[in-house]
Amino acid sequence: MTRKNHILAPALLAISLAACAVSPTGRRQLALVSEDSAIVASEEAYAMQIGELRKEGKIVPESSSVARRVDAITGRLVAQAIEWRPETADWQWSIEIIDDPEVVNAWCMAGGRMAVYTGLIQKLDPTDDELAQVLGHEISHALANHTAERMSVAVATNAGVVLAGVLSEDSQRAMSTAALAAALAVQMPNSRAAESEADEIGIELAAKAGYNPNAAISLWEKMAAVSGGGPPQFLSTHPSPANRQERLAELAPQMMAYYEQARRNAPTHSVARAD
Ligand SMILES: [Zn+2]
Repeated sequence: MTRKNHILAPALLAISLAACAVSPTGRRQLALVSEDSAIVASEEAYAMQIGELRKEGKIVPESSSVARRVDAITGRLVAQAIEWRPETADWQWSIEIIDDPEVVNAWCMAGGRMAVYTGLIQKLDPTDDELAQVLGHEISHALANHTAERMSVAVATNAGVVLAGVLSEDSQRAMSTAALAAALAVQMPNSRAAESEADEIGIELAAKAGYNPNAAISLWEKMAAVSGGGPPQFLSTHPSPANRQERLAELAPQMMAYYEQARRNAPTHSVARAD
């Protein structure tokens, strides 16, 4: 049997409901779905979702200036992600820009497959430092195994079929249940504990990649400011830990030395496209 087709199987659920793992930062996680399974499922989900968007003309071309900007920032962050967790050098790090000016969002699936929406870039108008905080935060969710954690929640609550608006019905029918859970996982809210982890890892990755840690604070201020017409998707999938602003303001000065050192000469890592 292939593991990807059986993740939602009731027998597996019955034997593993109590399964737990420990995140890289030491927190206990619900772990019905292993990280390896999450990576395999995410690969399928990403290929399907990006392929569908590409057919609709909703993927920003690699040659555009915004894509070059996003690639340059991502490459520097990925180099630091691999420093933080060396086995992720084997991940297929990739990023696509989805052309949807109404969607203020970004995500990173298990295995390093990322997306950012044009709505985030247009509505937030982030500086490079701020965009690095968004992407560093997303990368941190993947590094800390949060995608597998959210897939586990999707499996446990049997929510893997509610994908309206994310993928066409045809695509959903063509995908394995595990890939559906992976596609759903990035649309589900992280826990506040996972948010705190991603904030802490993200600001450090960004500083070590040469991006100003103070931008973590201004980023979240901008995010709150664009929420006038209803909260942006990013805020619904990234619920705010109670003390986010205070914690980031506390962390920023501690990150300045990394930033000062890296801003002159930060290494980069190649980042692929989905096709
Ligand atoms: Zn988050």
